[in-house]
Amino acid sequence: MNKIIFGLPTFVIWVVSLVSPVAHAQNADSQTFHIDSQRLQGTLEKLSEFGRNPEGGVTRLGFSETDLAAREYVMGLMKEAGLEVRIDPAGNIFGLRAGSEKLPILLFGSHIDSVLHGGNFDGDVGSMGAIEVMRALKDGSVKTRHPLEAVIWTNEEGNHFGIGTLGSAVASGSRGAEILEVKDEQGLTLGDWLRRYDQNPLHLTDARIPKGALAGFLELHIEQGPNLYEDKVPIGVVQGIVGIKRWDCVVNGFANHAGTTPMNRRKDALAAASKDVLAVRDVVRAEEGRQVGTVGYLKVNPGAVNVIPGRVEFPVELRDLDSTKVDRMWEHIQQKLTDIDKAENVETRCSLVDHSEPARADPKLQTAIREAAKSLSLATTDLPSLAGQDAQEIARIAPMAMIFVPSKDGISHSPKEFTSWQDVGNGAEVLYRSILLLDGQLDRR
Ligand SMILES: [Zn+2]
Repeated sequence: MNKIIFGLPTFVIWVVSLVSPVAHAQNADSQTFHIDSQRLQGTLEKLSEFGRNPEGGVTRLGFSETDLAAREYVMGLMKEAGLEVRIDPAGNIFGLRAGSEKLPILLFGSHIDSVLHGGNFDGDVGSMGAIEVMRALKDGSVKTRHPLEAVIWTNEEGNHFGIGTLGSAVASGSRGAEILEVKDEQGLTLGDWLRRYDQNPLHLTDARIPKGALAGFLELHIEQGPNLYEDKVPIGVVQGIVGIKRWDCVVNGFANHAGTTPMNRRKDALAAASKDVLAVRDVVRAEEGRQVGTVGYLKVNPGAVNVIPGRVEFPVELRDLDSTKVDRMWEHIQQKLTDIDKAENVETRCSLVDHSEPARADPKLQTAIREAAKSLSLATTDLPSLAGQDAQEIARIAPMAMIFVPSKDGISHSPKEFTSWQDVGNGAEVLYRSILLLDGQLDRR
């Protein structure tokens, strides 16, 4: 066996060069990376030191001393990449690279804040990936028509202040001055923290990005789910970020003596709610597709060992890219809940408490990502983002698309979060190529 393998390469090289020397050379050249995977790994490893936990991973909440220190590091990298760095009044960091024409900005980036006991890849890959793209463009002295800008959005996870995608939501105009007085556990307001970030809270809404200012927004991110990893597909083309609807439901039965009330005369709210939980799961599973539905908790009243539960509260959350599917599932769920009410002799009422519309990715931007991956012979698959993202906010004001890379075993928001360095490098190179493709394609007269 060894002999054959040893002998093979010379023979193959000889045949290939004989048959199509040009095609071979072009192919090899087109697959050469522009970004430096090792340098990217180095910056990601350095970033992981800010807020590192003993068990691995990080705790780097938005609006914290740890976040502040990490931001300093990131801004230093941006300056090294020759970018013009500025911070907007919401704390979002931008690094601008001039273009040769007067055109809207092509924006790309992610976030560097984490959840409590989070991992080293969620947000970080897209943030360091964006900066690596800028460094590679500088190395290659590449000129673009559009101005390019790397962005680090503030407090995406929202573990601090309970407001997710905070920076991008202010930029998109969906949040404004109303959030400034929100207090954290220490009694500090968001306004106080913005001042610590050297910003004037009174100018918060100046962070709004007007429609038309951006040619597009691209975000590289880990999938945070198992699809790419299990299917061994290196690049995911995000179709959009799912819409989320949440209802609060209350089951009213009758609290009574657990010993003296015969089984056929009970109005047991918990028995009914238990059926409701399974009804939600059944309805969501009955549809084709990647939709998800969850009952996250049950609050049982009075909650005593010898009392039949008289009242139960629970939330229902449904997520999908298609809002009509969400509404259809909810109708089915309501029918089932009504049937369960009758069978269990209780009354259930639900009210909508939270609602975010799905954000669709832009077809042109998605095509560019597919083309970029194809030029590297990397397989792609289309999939939705089941998690919330800054990109869903920016979709309100500009065309948006996301590049996903695999998450090992689909684990995220955990110290065990992991994406191989090869997958990280692939994602950054696809980002690099997508941006150059779009720079050539967009805003042509
Ligand atoms: Zn994220």
